[in-house]
Amino acid sequence: KPKVWVLGNGQLGAMLTHAGEPLAIDVRAVDIMTPTDEILPLAPQDIITAEREQWPESALSLQLSTHPHFVNGPVFSRLADRYSQKSLLDQIQVPTAPWTLVDDKTDIENLYQDFGPRVLMKRRMGGYDGKGQHWLKQAEAGEIPHDWRNLAIAEQAINFDEEVSLVGVRTREGQCVFYPLTLNLHQDGILMASISPLTRLNHLQAQAEGMLSAIMHELEYVGVMAMECFRVGDNLLVNELAPRVHNSGHWTQAGTHMDQFQLHLRALCGIVIPQPQVNFQCVMVNLIGIENDPRWLSLPNAELYWYNKEVRLGRKVGHLNLSVPNTAVLKDSISALQTWMPSQYQAPLAWILAEFA
Ligand code: ATP
Ligand code: MG
Ligand code: MG
Repeated sequence: KPKVWVLGNGQLGAMLTHAGEPLAIDVRAVDIMTPTDEILPLAPQDIITAEREQWPESALSLQLSTHPHFVNGPVFSRLADRYSQKSLLDQIQVPTAPWTLVDDKTDIENLYQDFGPRVLMKRRMGGYDGKGQHWLKQAEAGEIPHDWRNLAIAEQAINFDEEVSLVGVRTREGQCVFYPLTLNLHQDGILMASISPLTRLNHLQAQAEGMLSAIMHELEYVGVMAMECFRVGDNLLVNELAPRVHNSGHWTQAGTHMDQFQLHLRALCGIVIPQPQVNFQCVMVNLIGIENDPRWLSLPNAELYWYNKEVRLGRKVGHLNLSVPNTAVLKDSISALQTWMPSQYQAPLAWILAEFA
């Protein structure tokens, strides 16, 4: 029976491993960050996937990424570079925030002319959790830092109403299946909380599915992909794509009969994929840079995922999935979290309560 090897052994790799167990799929998440001379016992029929878009080159990562069953091989580099990712979106006419490449000739005044007084530069490679961003503001008469030229794109600041994401899967046969849209709250560039499903987003579902299926078909993608969007009125603009399971899909662990990790494994292994059933509306709260609090486990509707990483400022160390059997139960749990969690959580928790008011 083929094994599934995952490039990367962070929390996503761990949750993929966990999801393989009930299906007796042997998933091995591989640490490709620590230098080693180790070579893996890969079999020709094994399947290779990744929990991240980028990885350092080493004998180990090359062994995995050059295996003939490295699924979506060419997609990773294409999406890991924001320049080629945004070019792809333009090419297939999927709406995205207006942008341009920042190169030697880029003139800051032209950026303000084209995009308005606030322009967001993003590093082409390696940015995550809002790291690798640099705001240019006309009012502050800044300059383009020289070490951003040729290494960044510039985007129009989008005055969005809110952020949503769509997590979906494509099989080898080209069948696409989606979860309902997820509403996301970011704070300082980091995802703090998600809510899904929401009836008030239903009218955007078909639009979002059309966009993500166009992208996945164009890439002949197999597996789970996430599409982060800005909602501007009734229109969606793609912010960015992730060719993997995604933080905004973690609610599916508590809310559906088949979570995003199992969905990804099924697609890789060619196992049939029915439409996932939503059992509960869910709220996901990311645990960022805070110590494990045993009181969380006393909440009647909470499922804790603790990643067992060293707690550091701004680092994702776990998440809480709160199912919503009824509004009263959710409100009680959120109120408890308001008293237990530090100040940076007060705005996200209030945001959750407001959605259920
Ligand atoms: P992730 O951890 O999701 O991979 P990232 O570092 O790749 O994050 P983005 O998703 O591109 O960065 O941006 C992070 C957040 O910054 C967005 O979720 C959004 O809140 C804000 N943002 C990004 N682009 C824009 C924009 N063009 N206009 C306004 N806000 C933006
Ligand atoms: Mg990103
Ligand atoms: Mg993002």
